[in-house]
Amino acid sequence: MLDDSTTASPQAEGAAARPPRREFKARGSFVERCEGCNLPTLNCLCPFRVEAQSHAQVWLLTHPLEHHKPTNTGRLIGDVLPATRVFTWQRTAPDEALLALLDDPRYAPFVIFPDDQPDYAERVVGMQAVTTVTQQARIPVFIIIDGTWRQARRIFRKSPYLDRLPVLPLRTQRQTRYRLRKPASQAHLCTAEVAIELLRQAGDGDAAAVLDDYFDAFNDSYASSRTYHKIEQPTAAMRRLLARQGRLSASATE
Ligand SMILES: [Zn+2]
Repeated sequence: MLDDSTTASPQAEGAAARPPRREFKARGSFVERCEGCNLPTLNCLCPFRVEAQSHAQVWLLTHPLEHHKPTNTGRLIGDVLPATRVFTWQRTAPDEALLALLDDPRYAPFVIFPDDQPDYAERVVGMQAVTTVTQQARIPVFIIIDGTWRQARRIFRKSPYLDRLPVLPLRTQRQTRYRLRKPASQAHLCTAEVAIELLRQAGDGDAAAVLDDYFDAFNDSYASSRTYHKIEQPTAAMRRLLARQGRLSASATE
């Protein structure tokens, strides 16, 4: 299932097989969390939040169980890219706002999914298709399914409004750096990493770089809090984010 790993799935099958609530109940229930970023206050992410601009947009189709997980990385995309939209997937009640947007000719939506099944092969496109719609003055939209691999496949199969969209598989050599859930394979990227690589390949290099740094800051902040370690010296990614805000000198001395 190597190609599966390049989908929007933030977790591998092994992780999905665990009871979904156990991890953060056990680890996080008694931890004081920041209201701004939902991370443990020991290493709050808020000082590193930076916005960036991208030509392409990301719309997340999020499984209901994913929304409240503090380890979810889909939300990082919206922190950095203000045009990001988040829709909660419900099998029997498609989001009306999403349906309207899918009919809006300003947007050219692509559903991000691996091309490992033959029955939708005629819908599979490459990154060239993103270039083409951009030249047509339309806004490319990456619809990323935010859930475990199992949930993502179910959403892809049980959402008729996705059936007419082109399917764009992410092709990348990137190995995951996500430290908060254990992937079955290093090629299984989390949701934020999927967005980063799509943006990079689509020519939104600056937005990709900022989101990559913000993802690293999230990853390191959260992982350190799990071991009750306070990060005293900002990491390289954190310093780049602070510099972008013009806050490096103030924060570096704290
Ligand atoms: Zn915070």
